[in-house]
Amino acid sequence: MLELRPNCERCGKDLPAEAADAMICSFECTFCRDCVETRLAQRCPNCGGNLVPRPIRPAAALAKYPASTTRVFKPA
Ligand SMILES: [Zn+2]
Ligand SMILES: [Zn+2]
Repeated sequence: MLELRPNCERCGKDLPAEAADAMICSFECTFCRDCVETRLAQRCPNCGGNLVPRPIRPAAALAKYPASTTRVFKPA
């Protein structure tokens, strides 16, 4: 199950579970679309993998399986 991390690892922007601009790699390193397009050249800086839009968990499922609240922040 996806953790749904609460922020962009690069700039710290909040990315709540319903954020449409959250992007993740296969390890769930999480970034905002702005960082992915302007700073990261579409690649995860941690693992080199591609980044794809994070799916949005429906509200009913989110109540049962809440998003992570653990912030991961590694500015460049
Ligand atoms: Zn960002
Ligand atoms: Zn990664």
